[in-house]
Amino acid sequence: MIIAGLFILGLIFGSFINALVWRIKNKKDWVKDRSICINCKHELQARYLVPVFSWLWLKGKCAYCKKPISWHYPAIEVFTGIVFAVSYAAWQDGFSFLGIVLFILWLKITILLVALFLYDIKWMLLPNKLVGPLTLVSVIYVSLKAYAVADWLVVVSAIGGAVVLAGIFWALFEVSRGKWIGGGDVKIAVSLGLLAGSMLNAFLVVFIASIMGTLIALPMLLSKKAKANTKLPFGPFLIIAAMIVFFWGQTFIDWYSSLLYF
Ligand SMILES: [Zn+2]
Repeated sequence: MIIAGLFILGLIFGSFINALVWRIKNKKDWVKDRSICINCKHELQARYLVPVFSWLWLKGKCAYCKKPISWHYPAIEVFTGIVFAVSYAAWQDGFSFLGIVLFILWLKITILLVALFLYDIKWMLLPNKLVGPLTLVSVIYVSLKAYAVADWLVVVSAIGGAVVLAGIFWALFEVSRGKWIGGGDVKIAVSLGLLAGSMLNAFLVVFIASIMGTLIALPMLLSKKAKANTKLPFGPFLIIAAMIVFFWGQTFIDWYSSLLYF
């Protein structure tokens, strides 16, 4: 029941993310204007703003000008819904008062991560307007978590993760003079490293992101959809990898070390 509720809440926030990303890109004032069709600029009525269903009902076209609306919109909504539901199912910090506060902070972090994910795919950029708040909420999250478990080593360990992850990307950025990865990847690596929570987990993020990147890039190269010099944003892989490590990093490391010491 709660999982279904969170899924629906995720759909709604996914819809919010679509609007947020578009408004940041176009430097629109959040308060002033309403949702409009990007093509015909017609203001959208509330019934056309229901996540996923409006898109399905309108068969993926604007109600006014009939211009096709990208499937990216409902996809991001469903994706956010899944992230919210999985977050609840995989949550390890319990639901005491502090646990609930941490969970809400984490959902806020996932909203920023999905927004960055979308922005990087669309425009190959991780804007400071999103990276800034992400860093702030991540610092609050880690501090509160340390307070909740009364162990300041949590903070030390998380800083270790941030130093490793940001360090790796800063080095790659310097060596390639910004060709392999962008400056945004270095900045976002600070929060993702904090959230990963330890140096080992930070390495795991890089490992998983690289495997995912290769799995996506290889078929594109082989099918000649992309050339060797085609740029692929690395941010989305990094973001997904960080979310995986956030929940299952320890499980993965335990499993791996059990193989080593068998
Ligand atoms: Zn339209």
